[in-house]
Formats: sequence, structure tokens, C-alpha cells
Amino acid sequence: MRLEIVQVGEPVLRQAARPLSPAEIVAPEVQQLIELMRETMHNAPGVGLAAPQIGLPLQLAVIQDTGESPTTERTPVGFHVIANPRLTLGDGVAEFFEGCLSVDGFQAVVPRARSVRVEALDHRGAPVVIEASGWYARILQHEIDHLNGKLYIDRMRGDTLATNKNFARYLAGVPIAEVIATSDVWSRDLAPTAAAKK
Ligand code: ZN
Repeated sequence: MRLEIVQVGEPVLRQAARPLSPAEIVAPEVQQLIELMRETMHNAPGVGLAAPQIGLPLQLAVIQDTGESPTTERTPVGFHVIANPRLTLGDGVAEFFEGCLSVDGFQAVVPRARSVRVEALDHRGAPVVIEASGWYARILQHEIDHLNGKLYIDRMRGDTLATNKNFARYLAGVPIAEVIATSDVWSRDLAPTAAAKK
């Protein structure tokens, strides 16, 4: 069964989600929700899905990535759950095209921290620390943004926004340095929202 993924403009995507207690995480309702989110993410297909994207303002997200690309420092990441994440940004910035299942049909260049540290609860409600870099760090920042009511369009270089069709037509394979060489519309704050800071 797949859940409906809500689209930009839906108020729940702009709310700060509420944390879950460990007891709530292990309860059957949330365990079933995690399974439905996994199926919905696979069906989409996507590499991450946050609870607000299915209409629930909860600090819960699922992640799984089977892709590989040296260019984007992308390596496979197994299925896992993060709840109540606290994000710390590492040094360096990476810029790549990024999309979102809740902003269907578009991509844009989004600057993100190249590495991050995330403290969260896992699917059993147990504390975990994730040290990530490359594409995985991007996924984590994207999903944690969702839990704080933020979308990639708040952080993108606005003049790089393209439909998927036009991305394929004009931008696929173009080195990112070339794409952003003519872009001067990045003045966004890379830092996470206050709620995501420790
Ligand atoms: Zn998204």
C-alpha cells in the first residue's frame, strides 16, 4: 500500500514536526507507519521520505539509497529510520541538482554541507549517531529540513530551477561548476533552522 505524498503548498510541509517518544516509536502504529513509508518511498521512487510528506507532522523519516556516482559522492545506503534528529553541519559545501517528491517534476542546484553529524533515534527508539558525507549527507539535510518545515526551494539557486524534462534536455551531464558559473542568485543561509540546532 502506498500513501499519498502531499505537494508544496500543503500547510503540513511548513510546520515544525513534533518529536516522538521511544515508546511511541516501538508502538505498532508507528512501526506500521514506518513500513508504509518504506513502501511509499520505494514506489515513488525516492531515496528519502519524511512524515510531513504524507501529511503527518512527526519527526520521523525513512532513508534508503541504492544509487552510486563518483561525481556526486553517492554510495549505497541501507534502509533506516531517523526520529527526532539533531543536525550538526561539517566543513565544506557541495552543490548539485536536487529534487523533492513534494515539489514534483522539478530540480535545482542546492548548496549543502558536504558532511554532517546527526544524532537521532532509530526504528527501535534507540539513540544513534550518524556521520555522513557526500550524497548521504545531502539526503539527511533534505529530510531533516522537512521535519523543520523547510523545503529545498528555500535554499536553491533559484535561477537553476528546471523541470525534469528540461533538466534532461539541457543540463544532464553538464559539469556543476559550469551550471553555477553564471548563477548569482545564491544568498540563502545554509545553516539549519533554529529548531534543528542543538
Ligand atoms: Zn523532499
